[in-house]
Amino acid sequence: MAQRIDGRQIAEDVVAQVKERATKLIADKNIQPGLAVIIVGVDPASQVYVASKSKKAKECGFKSVQHTLPADTSEADLLALIANLNADKSIHGILVQLPLPGHIDSGRVIQTIAPEKDVDGFHFVNVGKLVTGETETAFVPCTPAGSMILIERVRGKDLSGLTAVVVGRSNIVGKPMASLLLGANCTVTVAHSRTKDLPAVCRTADILVAAVGRPEMVKGDWVKPGATVIDVGINRISTPDGKTRLVGDVDFAEAEKVAGAITPVPGGVGPMTIALLMANTLVSAYLAAGLERPR
Ligand code: NDP
Repeated sequence: MAQRIDGRQIAEDVVAQVKERATKLIADKNIQPGLAVIIVGVDPASQVYVASKSKKAKECGFKSVQHTLPADTSEADLLALIANLNADKSIHGILVQLPLPGHIDSGRVIQTIAPEKDVDGFHFVNVGKLVTGETETAFVPCTPAGSMILIERVRGKDLSGLTAVVVGRSNIVGKPMASLLLGANCTVTVAHSRTKDLPAVCRTADILVAAVGRPEMVKGDWVKPGATVIDVGINRISTPDGKTRLVGDVDFAEAEKVAGAITPVPGGVGPMTIALLMANTLVSAYLAAGLERPR
């Protein structure tokens, strides 16, 4: 049976370290990391995410500001708020919760965030830095960055020569995940909806990352024996008793019989995403203070 990768515990470790470093930054330099989270509209899932991000920021000792804007907020007003936060020295990270209402151009909003405060890592400057290997000053998107920590916990820091397959090519998960694995000297294949014989491609993977959004799509016989399986997917499915439950993109019951290590859903990648948001905000505060990125 595969080792279960305990994302909750590892995320707690990350948050504890962030908190310790934030406390020291405040004591030594009188700089309190600040995170501003913006939500437009009342989407219940987004509200839950935003509330947990703000709460975690407070837990870390950060200044935590939440801007809750009505669904009919104009794009101009949202851009003006971002411009104010860009200029606010007490704010080191700005996060705009996606999706935004249809009348707002998400791309324009993301590109308005100052790259040095773009703790989600979606700005073209940060995307470019990741792809070109300028990781000292880059902000890497939180979900793939967190997944990378989970992989390193199992495989160690040296991933050289391992074969990695990333299923999914979104800008927020699949592509940055592939860039990180490539940067770590893996041989990387990015699979997607047009990939031929996906099971055979997946079976080549020493490290298999599923970021698809299809419940339990990756079956046990798609997994190479001993592989490290990172399940990014979060899907809510109905159960026969009329309730619902969360499952990943991997058929966990099947895959855990074959894999060497595997993340559960929930309790795997999910908690890492928010932990890495805190870590990115801390990094931003360090860099703004002219300090080196903490390791
Ligand atoms: P997207 O919908 O943006 O991307 C999905 C990708 O999967 C696309 O590249 C698509 O291919 C590919 N795909 C879809 N169907 C298939 C298929 N049958 N075979 C192979 N590839 C397929 O999703 P995200 O990247 O945003 O999210 C993926 C999953 O991760 C979701 O379940 C989401 O909820 C979850 N997630 C979890 C997070 C966390 O914190 N744990 C954070 C972010 C996302 P194509 O490009 O060809 O259409």
